[in-house]
Amino acid sequence: MAAENNNTLEWQALDAKHHLHPFTDTGALNKKGARVITKAEGVYLWDSEGKKMLDGMAGLWCVNMGYGRQELIDAAYEQMKTLPFYNTFFQTTHVPAAKLAQAIAEVTPGDLNRIFFANSGSEAVDTIIRLTRTYWASQGKPYKNILISRENAYHGSTVGGASLGGMSGMHKQGIPMVGGIEHIRQPYWYGEGGDMTEEEFGLACAKALEERILEVGPDNVAAFIGEPIQGAGGVIMPPANYWSEIQKICKKYDILLAADEVICGFGRTGSWFGSQTLDINPDIMSMAKGLSSGYLPISAVAVGDRIAKALDTMGEDFNHGFTYSGHPAAAAVALANIELMKKENIVEYVANDIGPYFQEKLRETLQDHPLVGHINGVGLIAGFALVKDKATKELFPSDIDVGYICREHCFNNGLIMRAVGSRMVLSPPLVITREEVDELCAKAKQCLDLTLESVNQL
Ligand code: PMP
Repeated sequence: MAAENNNTLEWQALDAKHHLHPFTDTGALNKKGARVITKAEGVYLWDSEGKKMLDGMAGLWCVNMGYGRQELIDAAYEQMKTLPFYNTFFQTTHVPAAKLAQAIAEVTPGDLNRIFFANSGSEAVDTIIRLTRTYWASQGKPYKNILISRENAYHGSTVGGASLGGMSGMHKQGIPMVGGIEHIRQPYWYGEGGDMTEEEFGLACAKALEERILEVGPDNVAAFIGEPIQGAGGVIMPPANYWSEIQKICKKYDILLAADEVICGFGRTGSWFGSQTLDINPDIMSMAKGLSSGYLPISAVAVGDRIAKALDTMGEDFNHGFTYSGHPAAAAVALANIELMKKENIVEYVANDIGPYFQEKLRETLQDHPLVGHINGVGLIAGFALVKDKATKELFPSDIDVGYICREHCFNNGLIMRAVGSRMVLSPPLVITREEVDELCAKAKQCLDLTLESVNQL
């Protein structure tokens, strides 16, 4: 396709000179030049060279309703004309925030009916840290303040979120991290289960929570937090018995259960929330990304009656919030997004139609590929390990960045598929059609073949 414009080099130079990128080796990037994304429609993106790519990641797990949705664009425009900003501090509110809180309460499970707004998943996670600790302090137990999370969990990049997450690369660059946070093993059966059956491993991983609780003292533990399915850690589906065991343990020791739904929320797994798909009943839940399909930044924390009541009766301010908590334009877009999801029955479409189709097609096309270890996923989220030896699950040596090689082949061949170490992950827009899923799977197969050729030549 002909180049849409010839400014790519100029933009790359500006970018290299002034733009510091997140999660990027800037030296390496600037030698190469960033790919300049210029437009999008449906499930496709175009770069400044006119190259069209199928976005297998929905932006960054967020553009659930696809690109170019007029309803969301109009909602932002209309709201900005009426009231572009007002805060929700000092006993004021505005219509989009109030209506959005109601709309979220309607789709969240159980008694999660009170909603706190922030702007990013990280801020929502920080809010969980503040809220759970404040909750226990309000109950006369300020010492019950430890949060337990998991290795290889991702809970954001603010100091709080990075501390709570279990990404060693982030901890290494942020020490000292926030105190009062513990990490237990992740329930990654394919990679870490050894000789155990999936069920035995699920039990062992849940037992790790109980052991840690007993080690630090149940009276000191405020909450356990987990993504229903770990996303940025490589789409790790826990064994089927894992979450029920975790919930029993939380109940036994009176520990709050926090679900980080930043990726799993808003239809991704075929329910409004991953907690519903995996039968989890959290006391508190963070959400972002799919809340507005990524059109404007907004996140939220939903709390159940127990925490809400404590805040209502605390008799003092909850000293936490952001200038843009419940930003009117972002809230209006999120509200329009939820309405659009309902109008198009998108959750049912993922649960009963496109989700099962995607999972089946992916396995049919890729499971036998010599590089593909084991495909995980539900609804429109999936991940698989790239292995050197399928039979032994042996990984490539660390000097061969097979995930990066595969990601580059994908970019060059019109597919965005993300690499997390040696795992490849997919999370396409929920509006993807069967034909587009076929295209995605065919491209993924082609790129895996190219990756195999590349590693064989090393
Ligand atoms: N929690 C989870 C589970 C996430 O996946 C992410 C982002 N990928 C975050 C929190 C942080 O969200 P943000 O990047 O919007 O701060």
